[in-house]
Amino acid sequence: MANKNNINVKRLPVDPGPAAWNSILPKARTYPLLREDITVDWAIIGGGFAGLAAAKRLSQLVGNDSIALLEASALAQGPAGRNSGFMIDLPHELNSESYAGGHAQDLRQIKLNRAAIDFAREMAEEYAMPKAVFDPCGKVTAAGTAKGVAHIESYRQHLETLGEQYEVRSADEMKTWTGTEFYQKGLFTPGAVMIQPASFIRSVADGLSERVAIYENTPVVSMQLGDTHTLSTPQGKVKAKNVIMAVNGHLQSFGYFPGRLLHVFTYASMTRPLSPQEIKRLGGSSDWGILPADPMGTTVRRFSDYQGGGDRIVIRNHATLNQSIEAKESNMQRAAMLQDRSFENRFPMLSGIEMEYRWGGRLCLTLNSVPAFGEIEERVWSACCQNGLGTVKGTLSGMMAAEQAVLGKSELLDLFLDYPNPSRLPPEPFLSIGANATMRFKEWQAGLEL
Ligand SMILES: Cc1cc2nc3c(=O)[nH]c(=O)nc-3n(C[C@H](O)[C@H](O)[C@H](O)COP(=O)(O)OP(=O)(O)OC[C@H]3O[C@@H](n4cnc5c(N)ncnc54)[C@H](O)[C@@H]3O)c2cc1C
Repeated sequence: MANKNNINVKRLPVDPGPAAWNSILPKARTYPLLREDITVDWAIIGGGFAGLAAAKRLSQLVGNDSIALLEASALAQGPAGRNSGFMIDLPHELNSESYAGGHAQDLRQIKLNRAAIDFAREMAEEYAMPKAVFDPCGKVTAAGTAKGVAHIESYRQHLETLGEQYEVRSADEMKTWTGTEFYQKGLFTPGAVMIQPASFIRSVADGLSERVAIYENTPVVSMQLGDTHTLSTPQGKVKAKNVIMAVNGHLQSFGYFPGRLLHVFTYASMTRPLSPQEIKRLGGSSDWGILPADPMGTTVRRFSDYQGGGDRIVIRNHATLNQSIEAKESNMQRAAMLQDRSFENRFPMLSGIEMEYRWGGRLCLTLNSVPAFGEIEERVWSACCQNGLGTVKGTLSGMMAAEQAVLGKSELLDLFLDYPNPSRLPPEPFLSIGANATMRFKEWQAGLEL
């Protein structure tokens, strides 16, 4: 952990390709770029799920204290507007073998995830988000191969041991729902929410904007720590008594948690709007989403027109470790090739439909799946590193950072803080070579689930 008074930010975020969920919405409301020096009680760096949740929770806790949020890019242009929109209440890798605390750890994670989803639900209600933006419809994990079906079965057994509700969906039911014959079996669980991620982020920001001063295209390029911290941006400085950092993996660009954060990119493609004939050829219902039974498999979502964006399909797969925190053009090309193949396997009746958008986005993970959280300097809190499930865990870290900073202690915080420090990573180049080779091998093993 860095422990110095002057921090120069080494890297700013670079997002490959467009944030399609944002691109298909009507033109966004914009927020100003900071062009003057300001003084606030609270500064939040980063405007994703964590930053906005921290802003919301602070606004509930700090009375009239002033709050500013600084986003390097535009809202919903970063990973927050690039994800598949599954807010999942259950542990994402439901193989208890892979959880350090096993059963108890899973129950703890479920409780925390549900608290975060409830917080998001309250915001969705307060800011009048329609079903197309925040839909508490549950989720389906599905398999297209015998091996995938075996994964579903062990997932089902695990849900039994956790006492969780589920419904098994047959191949016929999956076809009626999705229109494709690809899926042999599905497993529905009711607690997840599907969001239009960019719209969700924009609605929360809109709702908060009367209380919180939001600045876009305002990257923090250096930080001077002191009685009052000074955050420098290209055209203005922010003096703040308290700072919450919600920059996910870019925490490392500020010098924190060196050698502990894994920077994984994952990739997606979105079709052009489907024509009425294509929608008829596909069949099935108009809004659905599927998570792969094999963690290295393909996530698919179909969604109907919202605000003129068109009926489309979005497909996500492929992961690469890029410790430079930038994806390469060759990563994007390989992802496009894999996604075209996965699309063709699932939707032969839509063969040849062009992908209008292709993009990648950053995740931050630790080897032992714990966050990079807490008071990292005096009155500087980190709400970073969401280990993949950032719509939920980002929301949770933001809430928790605000509670730790203001309250010091809370029931949820006690539950949340029960984890070890992030483990040290193996040295380079062994880490990147090893991790990328392992992920390629697992993708190959996933076979048709990819
Ligand atoms: C293709 C894809 C699919 C995904 N699918 C899902 C899914 O279905 N469900 C799920 O839960 N998660 C999913 N994720 C992961 C999820 O998007 C992230 O985990 C989540 O966005 C993390 O939230 P966050 O607020 O912590 O960080 P981010 O969303 O990354 O927000 C951090 C913000 O900090 C800003 N920032 C960085 N440095 C600075 C600086 N110096 N100054 C100012 N601002 C700065 C960035 O611009 C960024 O906007 C997916 C990700 C991708 C790429």
